[in-house]
Amino acid sequence: MKRLAILGSTGSVGTQALEVVAAHPDLFEVEVLSAHSNATLLIEQARKFKPNAVVVTDETKYKEVKDALLMLPIKVFAGQQALCDVVRWESVDTVLGAILGFAGLQSVLAAIEAGKRIALANKETLVVAGELVMQKAIENKALIIPVDSEHSAIFQCLVGEDMDTVEKMILTASGGPFLGRKPNYLVNVKASHALQHPNWSMGAKISIDSATLMNKGLEIIEAKWLFGLQNDQIDVVIHSQSVIHSMVQFTDGSIKAQMGLPDMKLPIQYALAFPQRIHNNYKRLDFKDFPKLTFEPADYKTFRNLAIAKEVLYKGGNAACVMNAANEMVVHAFLQNKVGFLEMSDMIEKTLEQVPFIEHPGLDDYKESDAEARVFATEFIKKSQLSIY
Ligand code: NDP
Ligand code: MG
Repeated sequence: MKRLAILGSTGSVGTQALEVVAAHPDLFEVEVLSAHSNATLLIEQARKFKPNAVVVTDETKYKEVKDALLMLPIKVFAGQQALCDVVRWESVDTVLGAILGFAGLQSVLAAIEAGKRIALANKETLVVAGELVMQKAIENKALIIPVDSEHSAIFQCLVGEDMDTVEKMILTASGGPFLGRKPNYLVNVKASHALQHPNWSMGAKISIDSATLMNKGLEIIEAKWLFGLQNDQIDVVIHSQSVIHSMVQFTDGSIKAQMGLPDMKLPIQYALAFPQRIHNNYKRLDFKDFPKLTFEPADYKTFRNLAIAKEVLYKGGNAACVMNAANEMVVHAFLQNKVGFLEMSDMIEKTLEQVPFIEHPGLDDYKESDAEARVFATEFIKKSQLSIY
């Protein structure tokens, strides 16, 4: 029986994780649930899964949650610090990090420091502070199992292999809803269109990141830290069917791929149950439905976020932290139709020019760089062509 803390339980990954848990009551027990502001869903989940505690990080929602759960033996806490405290509890053995963005870093770090097993969906944690996170994971013997489908695929390909025999890793990318499009088309696209991912159903922020290819950029950096790679050992290939979830090439030229239908419940289930592989009844991949699997290079010129992320990967230091913060801000603004699709890359680049570079940042430097980047990005957003009208 694994006792889980599900951080970000009201999100796309969080709700799918609870579906996996509900299907395997013999294997999983929910110890902690956390949400930010969706009190209604958090209350509903708490009534159903009866955790020991719930944490609502938006403190203004505390009373609503507390009152609703008054008659149940469920502890209710509010705020970031509470989240960092509960993940350390002895009764928790696995922590699913499914909070969105930089906001997920502190609680995952706390869980790592407590030596918990981490099922990590929150890729921004590794993008922002990958070196620090992995160093702490080694020090505290905290196993990090990726939930991101590409990294789960690679993790599965590596089972039984010696890391010294890895030549490179090939991350597949669907290309998103605007695959093949050029700037003259992208200049006018709106959030409603960008949110329609052809293969995956995901939260709003990651859906926009998939449309701009920033998601793949973040994933390159995530892979570097997670698997301890050199920058030139990570390739990206566009594979629009999203059937091959990623690949590992070995020193004998052999390539292993992990495949399946694009359904996040699979990597979530794998990470939660690891090292067990457990049964489910989800739809199976039928090769006859995919007579053609295609592969093509990514268009770095049109989807500049991918090129920016690559530069940032080589730059190191706090650059990825700054890029991530700027990206979070511009994606939020794009979702509110306050900036244009192509403007997002301009603003990320300009923010990177403004925030001072730190070669060897510590946690406080990351926090400062994140905050500074958000201030600059906000200024650029205010000057957007869309805000003028
Ligand atoms: P969602 O936006 O659907 O959910 C985010 C979750 O985080 C919600 O529970 C939300 O609470 C909570 N949250 C948001 N802001 C804060 C905050 N400031 N403090 C604490 N909690 C907060 O995101 P996804 O589920 O799509 O993504 C979660 C993470 O997983 C991301 O890092 C993403 O990159 C990664 N990921 C997601 C995939 C997917 O298929 N969705 C695939 C691979 C990776 P509330 O609802 O109450 O606001
Ligand atoms: Mg992914």
